[in-house]
Amino acid sequence: MEYSGEHFDVIVIGAGIMGSCAAYQMAKRGKKVILLEQFDFLHQRGSSHGESRTIRCTYPEDYYSDMVIESSKLWEEAESEIGYRVYFKTRQFDMGPSDDKSLRSAIETCKSNSIPHRVLDRKQVLEEFSGVFEIPENWVGLSTRLGGVIKPTKAVSMFQTLAIQNGAVLRDYIEVNDIKRDHERGGIRVCSKNGTMFSGNKCVVTVGAWMKKLVKTVTDRVLPVQPLHTTICYWRIKEGYQENFSVDNGFPTFASYGEPYIYGTPSLEYPGLIKIAVHGGYPCDPDNRTWVPTLLGNSMSSWIEGRFAGQIESVDPVITQSCMYSMTPDGDFLIDFLGGEFGKDVVVAGGFSGHGFKMGPVVGRILADMVLNGEAKGVELKYFRLDRFEENPRGNVKEYEDQVNSYA
Ligand SMILES: Cc1cc2nc3c(=O)[nH]c(=O)nc-3n(C[C@H](O)[C@H](O)[C@H](O)COP(=O)(O)OP(=O)(O)OC[C@H]3O[C@@H](n4cnc5c(N)ncnc54)[C@H](O)[C@@H]3O)c2cc1C
Repeated sequence: MEYSGEHFDVIVIGAGIMGSCAAYQMAKRGKKVILLEQFDFLHQRGSSHGESRTIRCTYPEDYYSDMVIESSKLWEEAESEIGYRVYFKTRQFDMGPSDDKSLRSAIETCKSNSIPHRVLDRKQVLEEFSGVFEIPENWVGLSTRLGGVIKPTKAVSMFQTLAIQNGAVLRDYIEVNDIKRDHERGGIRVCSKNGTMFSGNKCVVTVGAWMKKLVKTVTDRVLPVQPLHTTICYWRIKEGYQENFSVDNGFPTFASYGEPYIYGTPSLEYPGLIKIAVHGGYPCDPDNRTWVPTLLGNSMSSWIEGRFAGQIESVDPVITQSCMYSMTPDGDFLIDFLGGEFGKDVVVAGGFSGHGFKMGPVVGRILADMVLNGEAKGVELKYFRLDRFEENPRGNVKEYEDQVNSYA
Protein backbone atom coordinates (compact mmCIF):
# COMPACT_ATOMS: atom_id res chain seq x y z
CA MET A 1 0.00 0.00 0.00
CA GLU A 2 1.23 3.48 -0.86
CA TYR A 3 0.57 6.63 1.14
CA SER A 4 -1.25 9.37 -0.73
CA GLY A 5 1.58 11.70 0.30
CA GLU A 6 -0.22 14.29 2.39
CA HIS A 7 -1.38 14.10 5.98
CA PHE A 8 -4.88 15.46 6.70
CA ASP A 9 -6.53 16.83 9.80
CA VAL A 10 -9.67 14.91 8.89
CA ILE A 11 -10.50 12.22 6.33
CA VAL A 12 -14.20 12.06 5.44
CA ILE A 13 -15.44 8.82 3.84
CA GLY A 14 -18.59 9.01 1.69
CA ALA A 15 -19.63 12.02 -0.37
CA GLY A 16 -23.41 12.04 -0.01
CA ILE A 17 -25.09 14.99 1.68
CA MET A 18 -23.71 14.15 5.14
CA GLY A 19 -20.07 13.75 4.12
CA SER A 20 -20.19 16.78 1.82
CA CYS A 21 -21.66 18.98 4.58
CA ALA A 22 -19.12 17.69 7.12
CA ALA A 23 -16.20 18.33 4.74
CA TYR A 24 -17.47 21.87 4.09
CA GLN A 25 -17.90 22.63 7.81
CA MET A 26 -14.39 21.48 8.66
CA ALA A 27 -12.71 23.15 5.67
CA LYS A 28 -14.47 26.39 6.61
CA ARG A 29 -12.92 26.10 10.06
CA GLY A 30 -9.46 26.04 8.44
CA LYS A 31 -8.87 22.29 8.70
CA LYS A 32 -7.07 20.26 6.06
CA VAL A 33 -9.79 17.90 4.87
CA ILE A 34 -10.07 15.19 2.23
CA LEU A 35 -13.44 13.77 1.11
CA LEU A 36 -13.31 10.27 -0.41
CA GLU A 37 -16.08 8.75 -2.57
CA GLN A 38 -16.22 5.20 -3.94
CA PHE A 39 -18.16 6.14 -7.11
CA ASP A 40 -18.50 9.21 -9.32
CA PHE A 41 -19.38 12.39 -7.44
CA LEU A 42 -23.15 13.02 -7.62
CA HIS A 43 -23.84 9.41 -8.62
CA GLN A 44 -27.32 7.86 -8.35
CA ARG A 45 -26.50 4.70 -6.41
CA GLY A 46 -26.90 6.03 -2.86
CA SER A 47 -29.45 8.21 -1.07
CA SER A 48 -28.64 11.85 -1.83
CA HIS A 49 -29.43 12.19 -5.55
CA GLY A 50 -32.54 13.37 -7.33
CA GLU A 51 -34.77 16.38 -7.74
CA SER A 52 -36.51 17.03 -4.44
CA ARG A 53 -36.44 16.44 -0.70
CA THR A 54 -38.90 17.79 1.84
CA ILE A 55 -37.89 20.01 4.72
CA ARG A 56 -40.32 20.29 7.66
CA CYS A 57 -40.01 20.65 11.41
CA THR A 58 -43.13 18.66 12.32
CA TYR A 59 -41.83 15.53 13.99
CA PRO A 60 -43.48 13.22 16.55
CA GLU A 61 -40.12 13.16 18.38
CA ASP A 62 -39.34 16.45 20.06
CA TYR A 63 -35.57 16.18 19.46
CA TYR A 64 -35.65 16.81 15.71
CA SER A 65 -37.47 20.16 15.49
CA ASP A 66 -34.58 22.27 16.77
CA MET A 67 -32.19 20.43 14.48
CA VAL A 68 -34.40 21.22 11.48
CA ILE A 69 -34.72 24.88 12.50
CA GLU A 70 -30.92 25.20 12.75
CA SER A 71 -30.53 23.33 9.48
CA SER A 72 -32.92 25.65 7.64
CA LYS A 73 -30.73 28.59 8.66
CA LEU A 74 -27.61 26.74 7.51
CA TRP A 75 -29.30 25.97 4.16
CA GLU A 76 -29.92 29.68 3.68
CA GLU A 77 -26.38 30.62 4.72
CA ALA A 78 -24.89 28.15 2.23
CA GLU A 79 -27.18 29.46 -0.51
CA SER A 80 -26.04 33.01 0.08
CA GLU A 81 -22.40 31.89 0.08
CA ILE A 82 -22.74 30.07 -3.27
CA GLY A 83 -25.17 32.51 -4.91
CA TYR A 84 -27.87 30.14 -6.20
CA ARG A 85 -30.98 28.45 -4.84
CA VAL A 86 -31.33 24.91 -3.61
CA TYR A 87 -34.13 25.55 -1.06
CA PHE A 88 -37.63 26.53 -2.23
CA LYS A 89 -39.72 27.57 0.73
CA THR A 90 -43.38 26.80 1.17
CA ARG A 91 -45.68 25.67 3.98
CA GLN A 92 -45.76 22.13 5.36
CA PHE A 93 -49.12 20.38 5.65
CA ASP A 94 -49.45 17.18 7.70
CA MET A 95 -52.70 15.26 7.80
CA GLY A 96 -54.14 11.99 9.02
CA PRO A 97 -56.80 10.29 11.12
CA SER A 98 -57.48 12.39 14.21
CA ASP A 99 -56.59 9.45 16.47
CA ASP A 100 -53.27 8.74 14.75
CA LYS A 101 -50.78 8.67 17.63
CA SER A 102 -47.82 9.96 15.60
CA LEU A 103 -49.75 12.88 14.19
CA ARG A 104 -51.08 13.72 17.65
CA SER A 105 -47.52 13.57 18.91
CA ALA A 106 -46.30 15.86 16.10
CA ILE A 107 -48.98 18.38 17.14
CA GLU A 108 -47.83 18.12 20.77
CA THR A 109 -44.22 18.65 19.66
CA CYS A 110 -45.24 21.85 17.88
CA LYS A 111 -46.86 23.04 21.10
CA SER A 112 -43.99 22.11 23.41
CA ASN A 113 -41.36 23.57 21.05
CA SER A 114 -43.37 26.78 20.44
CA ILE A 115 -43.54 26.11 16.70
CA PRO A 116 -46.28 28.29 15.16
CA HIS A 117 -48.92 25.88 13.87
CA ARG A 118 -52.61 25.50 13.16
CA VAL A 119 -54.70 22.38 13.61
CA LEU A 120 -57.42 22.27 10.94
CA ASP A 121 -60.62 20.29 10.45
CA ARG A 122 -61.95 19.25 7.05
CA LYS A 123 -63.74 22.55 6.38
CA GLN A 124 -60.74 24.63 7.43
CA VAL A 125 -58.44 22.55 5.19
CA LEU A 126 -60.68 23.29 2.20
CA GLU A 127 -60.50 27.02 3.01
CA GLU A 128 -56.76 27.04 3.77
CA PHE A 129 -55.84 25.43 0.45
CA SER A 130 -58.63 26.92 -1.69
CA GLY A 131 -60.24 23.51 -2.17
CA VAL A 132 -57.11 21.82 -3.59
CA PHE A 133 -56.77 19.45 -0.60
CA GLU A 134 -59.64 17.44 0.85
CA ILE A 135 -59.47 15.36 4.01
CA PRO A 136 -62.13 13.02 5.44
CA GLU A 137 -64.37 14.20 8.30
CA ASN A 138 -62.49 12.13 10.89
CA TRP A 139 -59.06 13.50 9.88
CA VAL A 140 -57.14 16.56 11.08
CA GLY A 141 -54.62 18.75 9.31
CA LEU A 142 -51.55 20.45 10.77
CA SER A 143 -50.27 23.52 8.97
CA THR A 144 -46.83 24.96 9.74
CA ARG A 145 -44.73 27.66 8.10
CA LEU A 146 -41.41 25.83 7.95
CA GLY A 147 -41.69 23.61 4.89
CA GLY A 148 -40.21 23.47 1.45
CA VAL A 149 -38.32 21.60 -1.20
CA ILE A 150 -34.56 21.09 -1.34
CA LYS A 151 -32.90 20.07 -4.61
CA PRO A 152 -30.72 17.16 -3.50
CA THR A 153 -28.15 16.63 -6.28
CA LYS A 154 -27.72 20.37 -6.66
CA ALA A 155 -27.38 20.74 -2.88
CA VAL A 156 -24.70 18.04 -2.60
CA SER A 157 -22.84 19.71 -5.46
CA MET A 158 -23.16 23.06 -3.67
CA PHE A 159 -21.58 21.76 -0.46
CA GLN A 160 -18.80 20.01 -2.41
CA THR A 161 -18.08 23.25 -4.28
CA LEU A 162 -18.08 25.23 -1.03
CA ALA A 163 -15.77 22.64 0.54
CA ILE A 164 -13.34 23.00 -2.38
CA GLN A 165 -13.55 26.80 -2.20
CA ASN A 166 -12.56 26.51 1.46
CA GLY A 167 -9.55 24.32 0.64
CA ALA A 168 -10.88 20.75 0.91
CA VAL A 169 -9.51 18.02 -1.37
CA LEU A 170 -12.11 15.81 -3.08
CA ARG A 171 -11.28 12.40 -4.57
CA ASP A 172 -13.76 10.11 -6.34
CA TYR A 173 -13.37 6.42 -7.26
CA ILE A 174 -11.72 5.68 -3.93
CA GLU A 175 -13.44 2.76 -2.26
CA VAL A 176 -12.34 2.60 1.36
CA ASN A 177 -11.96 -0.97 2.58
CA ASP A 178 -10.40 -0.45 6.00
CA ILE A 179 -9.71 2.09 8.73
CA LYS A 180 -6.84 1.44 11.13
CA ARG A 181 -5.01 3.05 14.00
CA ASP A 182 -1.65 4.27 12.66
CA HIS A 183 0.75 3.01 15.29
CA GLU A 184 3.83 4.34 13.41
CA ARG A 185 2.75 7.90 12.60
CA GLY A 186 -0.10 8.28 15.09
CA GLY A 187 -3.65 9.10 14.03
CA ILE A 188 -5.68 7.13 11.53
CA ARG A 189 -4.91 5.22 8.35
CA VAL A 190 -7.63 4.88 5.74
CA CYS A 191 -6.99 2.10 3.23
CA SER A 192 -8.59 1.90 -0.19
CA LYS A 193 -9.25 -0.95 -2.60
CA ASN A 194 -6.94 0.54 -5.24
CA GLY A 195 -3.97 0.39 -2.85
CA THR A 196 -3.71 4.06 -1.80
CA MET A 197 -3.56 4.78 1.90
CA PHE A 198 -4.63 8.09 3.44
CA SER A 199 -3.21 9.42 6.66
CA GLY A 200 -5.11 11.70 9.03
CA ASN A 201 -5.56 12.76 12.64
CA LYS A 202 -9.27 12.00 12.61
CA CYS A 203 -11.88 10.36 10.43
CA VAL A 204 -15.59 10.84 9.75
CA VAL A 205 -17.53 7.91 8.26
CA THR A 206 -20.68 8.88 6.33
CA VAL A 207 -21.18 5.93 4.01
CA GLY A 208 -24.99 5.74 3.97
CA ALA A 209 -26.37 2.30 3.10
CA TRP A 210 -22.83 0.84 3.24
CA MET A 211 -22.42 1.70 6.93
CA LYS A 212 -23.15 -1.77 8.29
CA LYS A 213 -20.62 -3.34 5.87
CA LEU A 214 -17.78 -0.90 6.54
CA VAL A 215 -18.20 -0.77 10.32
CA LYS A 216 -18.32 -4.59 10.44
CA THR A 217 -15.04 -4.78 8.48
CA VAL A 218 -13.32 -2.22 10.69
CA THR A 219 -14.55 -3.26 14.16
CA ASP A 220 -16.43 -6.54 13.73
CA ARG A 221 -19.39 -4.72 15.27
CA VAL A 222 -22.78 -5.28 13.58
CA LEU A 223 -24.92 -2.15 13.46
CA PRO A 224 -28.64 -2.64 12.75
CA VAL A 225 -28.80 -0.57 9.56
CA GLN A 226 -31.03 -2.07 6.86
CA PRO A 227 -30.81 -0.64 3.33
CA LEU A 228 -34.19 -0.42 1.56
CA HIS A 229 -34.76 0.07 -2.15
CA THR A 230 -37.42 2.73 -2.53
CA THR A 231 -39.29 4.29 -5.43
CA ILE A 232 -40.29 7.91 -6.03
CA CYS A 233 -43.32 8.55 -8.27
CA TYR A 234 -44.34 11.56 -10.36
CA TRP A 235 -48.01 11.89 -11.36
CA ARG A 236 -49.61 13.96 -14.11
CA ILE A 237 -51.74 16.92 -13.05
CA LYS A 238 -54.88 17.19 -15.20
CA GLU A 239 -55.21 20.02 -17.71
CA GLY A 240 -56.29 23.27 -16.09
CA TYR A 241 -55.21 22.36 -12.54
CA GLN A 242 -51.42 22.75 -12.87
CA GLU A 243 -51.26 26.18 -11.21
CA ASN A 244 -52.96 24.83 -8.06
CA PHE A 245 -49.90 22.74 -7.26
CA SER A 246 -47.12 25.34 -7.55
CA VAL A 247 -44.99 26.84 -4.79
CA ASP A 248 -45.92 30.29 -6.11
CA ASN A 249 -49.58 29.54 -5.40
CA GLY A 250 -48.77 28.41 -1.87
CA PHE A 251 -49.09 24.67 -2.42
CA PRO A 252 -47.30 23.00 0.53
CA THR A 253 -44.97 20.08 1.00
CA PHE A 254 -47.14 17.45 2.65
CA ALA A 255 -47.26 14.20 4.60
CA SER A 256 -50.19 11.89 5.22
CA TYR A 257 -49.92 9.83 8.40
CA GLY A 258 -51.25 6.31 8.73
CA GLU A 259 -50.73 3.22 6.62
CA PRO A 260 -49.30 3.79 4.06
CA TYR A 261 -47.45 6.96 4.99
CA ILE A 262 -47.56 9.15 1.86
CA TYR A 263 -45.61 12.32 1.25
CA GLY A 264 -45.13 14.78 -1.58
CA THR A 265 -43.82 18.07 -2.84
CA PRO A 266 -45.27 20.88 -4.98
CA SER A 267 -44.99 20.68 -8.76
CA LEU A 268 -41.52 22.08 -9.39
CA GLU A 269 -38.97 19.91 -11.15
CA TYR A 270 -41.11 18.56 -14.02
CA PRO A 271 -43.79 20.98 -15.33
CA GLY A 272 -47.26 19.45 -15.06
CA LEU A 273 -46.11 16.64 -12.74
CA ILE A 274 -46.23 16.31 -8.98
CA LYS A 275 -44.20 14.01 -6.73
CA ILE A 276 -46.34 11.81 -4.49
CA ALA A 277 -44.60 8.79 -2.95
CA VAL A 278 -45.05 6.10 -0.35
CA HIS A 279 -42.47 6.09 2.38
CA GLY A 280 -40.91 2.62 2.47
CA GLY A 281 -39.38 -0.02 0.24
CA TYR A 282 -37.92 -3.50 0.22
CA PRO A 283 -34.63 -4.71 1.77
CA CYS A 284 -31.68 -4.64 -0.61
CA ASP A 285 -27.93 -5.18 -0.78
CA PRO A 286 -26.42 -1.83 -1.86
CA ASP A 287 -23.81 -3.69 -3.95
CA ASN A 288 -26.27 -6.02 -5.65
CA ARG A 289 -29.53 -4.26 -6.38
CA THR A 290 -32.28 -5.52 -8.68
CA TRP A 291 -33.59 -1.98 -9.35
CA VAL A 292 -37.14 -3.34 -9.50
CA PRO A 293 -39.58 -0.55 -8.54
CA THR A 294 -41.50 -0.90 -5.28
CA LEU A 295 -45.02 -2.24 -5.88
CA LEU A 296 -47.60 0.49 -5.34
CA GLY A 297 -50.88 -1.44 -5.17
CA ASN A 298 -54.13 0.53 -5.18
CA SER A 299 -53.51 2.50 -2.01
CA MET A 300 -51.71 5.36 -3.82
CA SER A 301 -54.44 5.79 -6.44
CA SER A 302 -57.23 5.84 -3.89
CA TRP A 303 -55.27 8.24 -1.66
CA ILE A 304 -54.70 10.60 -4.60
CA GLU A 305 -58.37 10.46 -5.61
CA GLY A 306 -59.46 11.06 -2.03
CA ARG A 307 -57.17 14.04 -1.40
CA PHE A 308 -57.11 15.77 -4.80
CA ALA A 309 -60.56 14.86 -6.15
CA GLY A 310 -60.17 14.59 -9.92
CA GLN A 311 -57.20 16.97 -10.31
CA ILE A 312 -54.50 14.31 -10.82
CA GLU A 313 -54.34 11.28 -13.12
CA SER A 314 -54.14 8.65 -10.44
CA VAL A 315 -54.02 5.32 -12.30
CA ASP A 316 -50.26 5.12 -12.82
CA PRO A 317 -47.29 7.42 -12.22
CA VAL A 318 -45.58 8.78 -15.34
CA ILE A 319 -42.04 8.76 -13.93
CA THR A 320 -40.52 6.52 -11.27
CA GLN A 321 -37.04 6.89 -9.79
CA SER A 322 -35.02 4.64 -7.47
CA CYS A 323 -33.26 5.53 -4.25
CA MET A 324 -32.12 3.86 -1.02
CA TYR A 325 -33.01 4.34 2.62
CA SER A 326 -30.77 3.23 5.51
CA MET A 327 -33.22 2.19 8.19
CA THR A 328 -32.53 1.75 11.90
CA PRO A 329 -35.04 -0.21 14.02
CA ASP A 330 -36.36 2.97 15.67
CA GLY A 331 -36.03 5.27 12.65
CA ASP A 332 -33.56 7.47 14.54
CA PHE A 333 -30.12 8.43 13.28
CA LEU A 334 -26.80 6.92 14.33
CA ILE A 335 -24.31 9.66 15.18
CA ASP A 336 -21.54 8.66 17.57
CA PHE A 337 -17.85 8.12 18.19
CA LEU A 338 -16.80 4.70 16.97
CA GLY A 339 -15.06 4.06 20.31
CA GLY A 340 -12.93 0.99 21.04
CA GLU A 341 -9.32 1.48 19.89
CA PHE A 342 -10.45 4.55 17.89
CA GLY A 343 -11.82 6.41 20.91
CA LYS A 344 -13.04 9.83 19.79
CA ASP A 345 -10.86 9.92 16.67
CA VAL A 346 -13.42 8.27 14.40
CA VAL A 347 -17.01 9.53 14.20
CA VAL A 348 -19.74 7.67 12.32
CA ALA A 349 -23.04 9.01 11.05
CA GLY A 350 -25.64 6.92 9.25
CA GLY A 351 -29.00 5.22 9.56
CA PHE A 352 -30.76 8.38 8.41
CA SER A 353 -33.89 6.26 7.88
CA GLY A 354 -35.34 8.16 4.95
CA HIS A 355 -35.59 11.54 6.66
CA GLY A 356 -32.06 12.88 6.98
CA PHE A 357 -31.55 15.09 3.95
CA LYS A 358 -33.12 18.24 5.40
CA MET A 359 -30.72 17.93 8.34
CA GLY A 360 -27.53 17.50 6.27
CA PRO A 361 -26.14 20.94 7.16
CA VAL A 362 -26.76 20.57 10.91
CA VAL A 363 -25.39 17.02 10.89
CA GLY A 364 -22.29 18.40 9.14
CA ARG A 365 -21.95 20.98 11.91
CA ILE A 366 -22.41 18.33 14.61
CA LEU A 367 -19.86 15.98 13.02
CA ALA A 368 -17.31 18.80 12.73
CA ASP A 369 -17.84 19.70 16.41
CA MET A 370 -17.52 16.08 17.51
CA VAL A 371 -14.39 15.28 15.56
CA LEU A 372 -12.63 18.60 16.17
CA ASN A 373 -13.79 19.41 19.73
CA GLY A 374 -14.77 16.01 21.11
CA GLU A 375 -18.38 17.13 21.68
CA ALA A 376 -21.27 18.82 19.91
CA LYS A 377 -23.18 21.61 21.57
CA GLY A 378 -26.90 22.36 21.23
CA VAL A 379 -28.01 18.84 20.38
CA GLU A 380 -29.02 15.86 22.51
CA LEU A 381 -26.93 13.04 21.05
CA LYS A 382 -28.18 10.36 23.44
CA TYR A 383 -30.96 9.43 20.99
CA PHE A 384 -28.36 8.71 18.29
CA ARG A 385 -25.93 6.51 20.25
CA LEU A 386 -24.67 3.31 18.59
CA ASP A 387 -25.06 1.21 21.74
CA ARG A 388 -28.76 1.94 22.29
CA PHE A 389 -29.59 -1.30 20.46
CA GLU A 390 -27.53 -3.32 22.91
CA GLU A 391 -29.84 -2.17 25.71
CA ASN A 392 -33.00 -2.59 23.61
CA PRO A 393 -32.88 -4.14 20.10
CA ARG A 394 -35.73 -1.82 19.08
CA GLY A 395 -33.73 1.23 20.15
CA ASN A 396 -35.38 4.37 21.46
CA VAL A 397 -38.74 3.72 23.05
CA LYS A 398 -41.59 5.68 21.48
CA GLU A 399 -45.15 6.02 22.62
CA TYR A 400 -46.54 6.08 19.11
CA GLU A 401 -45.24 2.78 17.75
CA ASP A 402 -47.79 2.97 14.92
CA GLN A 403 -45.56 5.25 12.90
CA VAL A 404 -41.98 4.35 13.81
CA ASN A 405 -39.88 4.01 10.66
CA SER A 406 -42.54 5.60 8.54
CA TYR A 407 -41.74 9.12 7.64
CA ALA A 408 -39.64 11.14 5.16
C1 LIG B 1 -36.57 8.38 -2.20
C2 LIG B 1 -36.03 9.12 -1.02
C3 LIG B 1 -36.74 10.21 -0.53
C4 LIG B 1 -36.28 10.89 0.57
N1 LIG B 1 -36.98 11.97 1.00
C5 LIG B 1 -36.48 12.71 2.01
C6 LIG B 1 -37.13 13.90 2.37
O1 LIG B 1 -38.15 14.29 1.78
N2 LIG B 1 -36.60 14.63 3.37
C7 LIG B 1 -35.47 14.25 4.02
O2 LIG B 1 -35.04 14.96 4.93
N3 LIG B 1 -34.82 13.11 3.68
C8 LIG B 1 -35.29 12.34 2.71
N4 LIG B 1 -34.64 11.21 2.32
C9 LIG B 1 -33.49 10.73 3.09
C10 LIG B 1 -32.19 11.38 2.70
O3 LIG B 1 -32.09 11.54 1.31
C11 LIG B 1 -31.04 10.54 3.26
O4 LIG B 1 -31.24 10.43 4.67
C12 LIG B 1 -29.69 11.16 3.00
O5 LIG B 1 -29.52 11.43 1.63
C13 LIG B 1 -28.59 10.21 3.49
O6 LIG B 1 -27.34 10.76 3.10
P1 LIG B 1 -25.97 10.02 3.39
O7 LIG B 1 -24.91 11.00 3.09
O8 LIG B 1 -26.02 9.40 4.76
O9 LIG B 1 -25.95 8.77 2.39
P2 LIG B 1 -25.53 8.71 0.83
O10 LIG B 1 -26.11 9.82 0.09
O11 LIG B 1 -25.85 7.35 0.33
O12 LIG B 1 -23.97 8.91 0.86
C14 LIG B 1 -23.08 7.91 1.25
C15 LIG B 1 -21.94 7.91 0.28
O13 LIG B 1 -20.90 7.09 0.78
C16 LIG B 1 -20.30 6.44 -0.33
N5 LIG B 1 -19.61 5.25 0.17
C17 LIG B 1 -20.15 4.14 0.69
N6 LIG B 1 -19.23 3.26 1.04
C18 LIG B 1 -18.03 3.82 0.73
C19 LIG B 1 -16.69 3.38 0.84
N7 LIG B 1 -16.39 2.17 1.37
N8 LIG B 1 -15.70 4.18 0.40
C20 LIG B 1 -15.99 5.41 -0.13
N9 LIG B 1 -17.26 5.87 -0.26
C21 LIG B 1 -18.27 5.09 0.17
C22 LIG B 1 -21.50 6.12 -1.20
O14 LIG B 1 -21.12 5.79 -2.52
C23 LIG B 1 -22.31 7.37 -1.08
O15 LIG B 1 -22.00 8.31 -2.07
C24 LIG B 1 -35.08 10.49 1.21
C25 LIG B 1 -34.36 9.40 0.71
C26 LIG B 1 -34.82 8.73 -0.39
C27 LIG B 1 -34.03 7.57 -0.92
